[in-house]
Amino acid sequence: MTDFNTLALKPALLASVETLGYGAMTPIQAQSLPAMLEGRDVIAQAQTGSGKTAAFGLSLLQSLSVETIRLQALVLCPTRELADQVSKAIRKLAANIPNVKLLTLCGGMPLGPQLASLTHDPHIVVGTPGRVQEHLKRGSLHGGGIKVLVLDEADRMLDMGFSEAIDDIVGRIAKHHQTLLFSATYPDDIREASRRMQRNPVEIIIEAPVDTKPAIEQQFIDVEPARKLDALAQLLTGERGQHALVFCNMRRDVDAVAEELDRRGFSALALHGDMEQRDRDEVLVQFANRSCAVLIATDVAARGLDITALPLVISYDVAHDPDTHTHRIGRTGRAGQTGLAITLCTPREKPKAENIEQILGRPLPWHPLKVSSPRGKTLNLAPMKTLVIDAGRQDKLRPGDILGALTGDAGLKADDVGKIDVFATRAYVAITRSLANKALERLRAGKIKGRNLRVRALH
Ligand code: AMP
Repeated sequence: MTDFNTLALKPALLASVETLGYGAMTPIQAQSLPAMLEGRDVIAQAQTGSGKTAAFGLSLLQSLSVETIRLQALVLCPTRELADQVSKAIRKLAANIPNVKLLTLCGGMPLGPQLASLTHDPHIVVGTPGRVQEHLKRGSLHGGGIKVLVLDEADRMLDMGFSEAIDDIVGRIAKHHQTLLFSATYPDDIREASRRMQRNPVEIIIEAPVDTKPAIEQQFIDVEPARKLDALAQLLTGERGQHALVFCNMRRDVDAVAEELDRRGFSALALHGDMEQRDRDEVLVQFANRSCAVLIATDVAARGLDITALPLVISYDVAHDPDTHTHRIGRTGRAGQTGLAITLCTPREKPKAENIEQILGRPLPWHPLKVSSPRGKTLNLAPMKTLVIDAGRQDKLRPGDILGALTGDAGLKADDVGKIDVFATRAYVAITRSLANKALERLRAGKIKGRNLRVRALH
């Protein structure tokens, strides 16, 4: 049954659902609400538009006791925009319950008014991790009565470097609480966070419709050695080349291919075992935060890469053995999207391709490619650009401080700020490429966390 009436919801909540015109429950609601209403921890794979906000909103409102003037539900979101949306949605659901006090507490907003509105604890707080942590630390917010903790878009929060802030928050709130974790993707760090923070959670995965099931399309392309680079550049042109991984069998080819692609106007970087740790970190950061569109790597070096759902993986050389080939193509086609795995094969490499064919147990999908000669420089730049700040965890710099400086003084929208990585002594932030110079100038002119810090752009 997907009718809201089948749930033991307060009449006031059923009335709101009706006013909002929700006919039936969405799949995520039908699957998660019964468990959530029982008080179970839930980890749910849910995208925007799935109806997840109403799912956790209804659940936390159901367990709320308005007469108790204490903070009872805390919702953490990655950005102010999302926190505002979630607050609005919960307010609508709470419309028929008198006197529910909900407060939105986000970074990048002045602290004074927030402190003023915290003279009495609200029932519900929706906010970004950095600012909520600050209030809990200051004692302007009390977490001892929290019954429900919601992590919304948890994958994005971890991407933005909020992991430590969230752990600290969990350490400052009531020990026994229900944790509801929503995430569009399930990378290892989300599973790890769930293991740390949840007790025997009910796991909900909404199966993607059959035609969007993960699939890897393989293509083998016959190419003369002299035309390999032109073929590669041609394959990388366009949308799929915006986030692609290219494997070479040898280190020296990794460098040569990266340099040539860079010369031809691609945001391309090399990754191999000979590089200094710091340089490797910077390359991995830039590829993960979308400042580098094409990463050229050896198989060994690519192990350090925790990204799997790439739209395009290219073997510049046929892998020496079928196992390595399988590993390479496994980097694409996850998270409900079709991935393309292309292998370039010169006549001399045919025997290695035949090995792979044997393991595959069916004919290799050969595709003709008419390689055209390069005409001038094609611009194929990554959507983001990375700024480096010469301060990090040792300086108590947190992602929220950087986001705050960018959206506050520097005047950027949160949507133009990408992944934030804070290392011990340095921090990296991805900015929409067209705004990166402006952000750099403003950050240099202004202050981060009250200090003048050195900032520069990565190539
Ligand atoms: P969300 O995934 O939480 O961002 O919600 C997406 C949209 O779906 C919002 O505009 C909700 O108001 C709407 N919505 C949530 N639940 C339902 C439902 N059961 N029926 C129809 N619309 C819904």
